[in-house]
Amino acid sequence: MTDFAAIRKEFPILNQKIHGHQLVYLDSAATSQKPQCVIDAESDFYRTINAGVHRGAHELAARSTMAFEEARAKVARLVGASTVEGEEEIVVTSGATAGLNLLATAFGNASQGRGGEAARRFAVKSGDEIVVSKAEHHSVLLPFQELAARTGATLKWFDLDDEGRILANTADEVITERTKIVAVTHVGNTTGAITDIAPIVKRAHEVGAVVVLDACQSVPHLKIDLHALDVDFAAWSAHKMYGPTGVGFLYGKREMLEALPPANFGGSMVELAWMDQEAQYMAPPARFEAGTQPVAQVVAAGVAAEWLMNIGMENLEAHERVIAGELLKMGQIEGVRILGPHANERRIGTVAFEIEGVHPHDVGQFIDAQGIAIRVGHHCAQPVHRHFGVYASNRASSGIYNCVEDAQALVEALKKVRPFFG
Ligand code: PLP
Repeated sequence: MTDFAAIRKEFPILNQKIHGHQLVYLDSAATSQKPQCVIDAESDFYRTINAGVHRGAHELAARSTMAFEEARAKVARLVGASTVEGEEEIVVTSGATAGLNLLATAFGNASQGRGGEAARRFAVKSGDEIVVSKAEHHSVLLPFQELAARTGATLKWFDLDDEGRILANTADEVITERTKIVAVTHVGNTTGAITDIAPIVKRAHEVGAVVVLDACQSVPHLKIDLHALDVDFAAWSAHKMYGPTGVGFLYGKREMLEALPPANFGGSMVELAWMDQEAQYMAPPARFEAGTQPVAQVVAAGVAAEWLMNIGMENLEAHERVIAGELLKMGQIEGVRILGPHANERRIGTVAFEIEGVHPHDVGQFIDAQGIAIRVGHHCAQPVHRHFGVYASNRASSGIYNCVEDAQALVEALKKVRPFFG
């Protein structure tokens, strides 16, 4: 039996009072808190082996390079990507947003003929289609909308059902012979709904389209095997998976990364550079990692990945399912409307809701006064809010450290909202 009470104690930040109450942190979809081992990993790196990676002949540079590459392998193991040297499938980025923009820029470069014949599979032109969904975070929607605008391609999208689930069963109609790119979320950051990705991937591959998965809200909560999911690319952030801010990861199937032209240019990504000839770029992942990387943070993210694997993602999933079940009880309170799946199935413990007649910001402040942290606003996902007919919502989201009492505290506090605001 995993001792989740002991795991909670590994998070120093949780041991504090807010407005005189024990802190209840239910905002992990925005960012997760960090266990002591991750906090230590970052400062240990600076105290012991800090040096530039992949260059320099001195011992510290060799040690930091090894730590950096070991971290990459740990993250790869967490998501079922290749850990073989020379066949790496994990690119370091500064976050999910950066990874998704990297892809959209690289696809745009391919559309202009960069990357030669191999990159043609990523090229989009007028008349082609790029498919997203109405459940997307703006970090998916906007880079691909921009790519469509730049190339003349048409942006299309999956619609959602009444509970905000992506209608994956419409894949055969939404994805056509003209579709070149399909970019969808694995788990909705507002709804908490897990997307039925298989029919989308199947149809996309049937028509030769590339599939990009936003794995921001799935990697921290679900056991994931990217090879089994068969997506071509996936992006997520370390700070939502108990790692540091400023780091993210972009997965690409090896053959995809090898064919993809670079998006960012500079040091450490080029084999040969001349004044009067095109540069010769390095093999992936270096080709996509221009400039000095956030090495200490990557190393700490690797520690987070290892820590998660030691706990076991299946255990984490089971634990959070219990918390989700408790959070969903808020749906029984009069005037509370859950914006997402009501049943505790194919969803995670991210529960957005509105309270009839009370502005989300008022709800957030009322809850905060009781030491409970939830998110209010549109969560960088305006189309899904429009789908539900609201501009903003409240969102409670669980993490590994939450206990049943945390969810109960929120539900009890929510019962008092409407009586308070009259
Ligand atoms: N995609 C989803 C589903 C998210 O929840 C987020 C973060 O809120 C992002 C993308 C963007 O992540 P970041 O801001 O860390 O780049």
